[in-house]
Amino acid sequence: MADLLRPSECGLYCEAGDFYIDPWKPVDRAVITHAHSDHASPGSARYLCSEQCVPLARLRLGEEAAIDALPYGQTIRVNEVDLTLYPAGHVLGSAQVCVEHGGERWVVSGDYKLAPDPTCQPFELVTCDVFISEATFGLPIYHWPRPQAVFEEIHQWWRDNQREGRTSVLYAYTLGKCQRILAGLDQSAGPIFVHGSMLRYIEAYRSCGVELPEVRHAVAEEVRKLKGQAIVILPPATTNDLYLRKLGPVSQAAVSGWMRVRGRRRWRSLDRGFILSDHADWDHLHQAIRQTGAARVGITHGYVSAMARYLSEQGMETFIVPTRYTGEAETEQPEGVPEA
Ligand SMILES: [Zn+2]
Ligand SMILES: [Zn+2]
Repeated sequence: MADLLRPSECGLYCEAGDFYIDPWKPVDRAVITHAHSDHASPGSARYLCSEQCVPLARLRLGEEAAIDALPYGQTIRVNEVDLTLYPAGHVLGSAQVCVEHGGERWVVSGDYKLAPDPTCQPFELVTCDVFISEATFGLPIYHWPRPQAVFEEIHQWWRDNQREGRTSVLYAYTLGKCQRILAGLDQSAGPIFVHGSMLRYIEAYRSCGVELPEVRHAVAEEVRKLKGQAIVILPPATTNDLYLRKLGPVSQAAVSGWMRVRGRRRWRSLDRGFILSDHADWDHLHQAIRQTGAARVGITHGYVSAMARYLSEQGMETFIVPTRYTGEAETEQPEGVPEA
């Protein structure tokens, strides 16, 4: 029997169902795991995603995009296959795609994490014959501290900055990380500002019932008036020195899994790096892969060769699923990060 899913020039293709998963070129029918731009690419005729992904996908794909919502855990027939979406725990609405046909079950993880995150439904383990896993942080050096401990560090840093009269500037990506940080911040600790591009994503989260603290648009003059009491969340790509200068004295920090590697911090001349990722670390990747019970494992996105080699050594049948490109800021990948 032919493989149920196979790589194509547009992305992962399911012939029996005649659809693509996270295609990077326009296709007739796209199933998308979540709304990050390297997974939700515009121009396809029809999209299918989880219910909670819809408002976020709209922001990415445009108001006119034809998007069908499928609640988690509900199975639909698509041509010859049964398709079900399960929570991936990555960002709001992120899903694993489960495809069943001829007694075989394949699961495509999309991006995922096992660590707790109050802004999205937790990763749900699905047993399967073939599991296609991401490997963004698929090296043993990537091991995450408890999120609770990271939030304590962030608050301590914020308090220290307040005492010194320095505004706390946190770099975090717009969809997912920003909201996860907001959900973990103590509203009573001080005023919270965000970059204008984050406001509509925050609204989309709220429209899905995710509770987030009150935030204000980070107009430089407003922030400066508060003399270092505020925290400001900006996208990692912000390199607007003029804006930063208008804020007055600042302390800059990034919140990312890449902060596990010291050189990243120096590279951006940051004062601090907080290790909080929306991807699984090495241990969690292997825990998830093992627990699916899959006999065959496909690896995609990130340190694919290292992961595949390690799994092969453990006696697992592995294959590599190509992606269009890596180096996407939205997926925590700052420019200049070496690819494996
Ligand atoms: Zn993602
Ligand atoms: Zn991704």
